[in-house]
Amino acid sequence: MRLAAAVAIVSLGAMMAAQAAPRDLAPIVLPSPAVPGPAVQPYVSVSAPVVALTHVRVIDGTGAAARDDQTLVIEAGKLTAIGHDIEVPAGAKTIDLSGHTVFPGLVGMHDHLFYIARPNLTADMKGDPPLIVPEMAFSAPRLYLANGVTTLRTTGSVEPYTDLNLKHAIDEGRLPGPHMDVTGPYLEGADSRFIQMHPLRDPEDAKETVAFWAKQGVTSFKAYMNITRAELKAAVDEAHSLGLKITGHLCAVTYREAAAIGIDDLEHGFFVNTEDDPGKTEDSCTRSDGRDTLYAMDPNGAAAKALIADLIARHVAVTSTLPVFEQSVPDHAPLWPRAMASYSPQASRDYLLARAHTEADTPAEAEKARLTFQHGMAMERAFAAAGGLLLAGPDPTGNGGVVAGFGDLREVELLVEEGFTPEQAIHIASYNGALFLGLENRVGSLAQGKDADLVVVKGDPSRHIDDIENVETVFKDGIGYDTQKLLDSVKGHYGQY
Ligand SMILES: [Zn+2]
Repeated sequence: MRLAAAVAIVSLGAMMAAQAAPRDLAPIVLPSPAVPGPAVQPYVSVSAPVVALTHVRVIDGTGAAARDDQTLVIEAGKLTAIGHDIEVPAGAKTIDLSGHTVFPGLVGMHDHLFYIARPNLTADMKGDPPLIVPEMAFSAPRLYLANGVTTLRTTGSVEPYTDLNLKHAIDEGRLPGPHMDVTGPYLEGADSRFIQMHPLRDPEDAKETVAFWAKQGVTSFKAYMNITRAELKAAVDEAHSLGLKITGHLCAVTYREAAAIGIDDLEHGFFVNTEDDPGKTEDSCTRSDGRDTLYAMDPNGAAAKALIADLIARHVAVTSTLPVFEQSVPDHAPLWPRAMASYSPQASRDYLLARAHTEADTPAEAEKARLTFQHGMAMERAFAAAGGLLLAGPDPTGNGGVVAGFGDLREVELLVEEGFTPEQAIHIASYNGALFLGLENRVGSLAQGKDADLVVVKGDPSRHIDDIENVETVFKDGIGYDTQKLLDSVKGHYGQY
């Protein structure tokens, strides 16, 4: 009896992977700010030892209602005071922001640094293989910062060395851009549609890949569509043993299988859960990539409730990426002129072809797309209402209809369409991401002592959510960057480099 118990304990111990305490990402993702160098200086519009923003409406990122006529004092990169009856320190550079609103810098949780090109794309959405993923090392960081994303997770990389070098260049003041949690290369299984991804050979390869890239400096991981359960488990265990988190855009592995394995986050809301897809077999991806499961799922039904309860019980976060799924719904909102202007001629043409193709859906296809999107929104709302941690990011890939940075703002608008108040939507897009990364004491909300990462928009997004599109200045570590200048610098280049 005693021996049996001892054996049981030993084998349990052998089965459980070492779980290190989560690594403190603050020193890596939010290092001490550097002085902006010559390549960054042209975009700086506010830089002074003490800055006071006065008469401004504040949405503080906690989900609390907007407050009018506030004063914020920024000193040495930190918010040193915020409130109505704040005395402006003598000598402060004071900026009257009447008619404007500030909210915390967004923490983008699905913010890639690449674009997906489709060689020789034609109007029927056919092109020549292979799909190519050009790295947007020039335009993406500028577009994110210009649109108020001050911290992001790259959520899967095709050029991890480039992403790491870029992060260091930004941190050292050599290039403009946001704070970054760099994710390792996609942990993809066999038969990927992407020629730039390494196909994992087996669980040992998954473990070694995670260990290698953690050593190179990445601070998160992402599993991809064709990874198997055994490979995912090896990757999850290795990441956790290093104190790092791992998310997934899954297909061969279902949401509940991944949750049981110990994944920390699931990408794409409830759009890519394949458990009820026709023809689903273990460890293999389906043709519909989860759309059939979501279409058939009643968001108020027992199966949906059980799935949501299971994810919450296992502390799995879910990342909403509505802008990319919006693209498959006919009559979706067109890209804003400022976003269109950042496209290269080629990317602009491909976007318009994809858009026209979606508009040509049959009524039955269109209805199915609409219902699936509605189910996806309802599931996310139910997940958050039940206590789940909902994160936000745009996924600037898809059919090209989502642009880095602009997509982050569009995500907030779609969260409002989904049923959240503007203050709740901003909370999801800022604070929740910070919380997931363990950075909530530094960024994600506006309070005395926190980092001065904040976004200035003209108008009042708490009443008219589209006012969130009017970004004028973005503060990162207390330095203000001119949105229009950053956008002008990448005009015509997104999709190119
Ligand atoms: Zn993605």
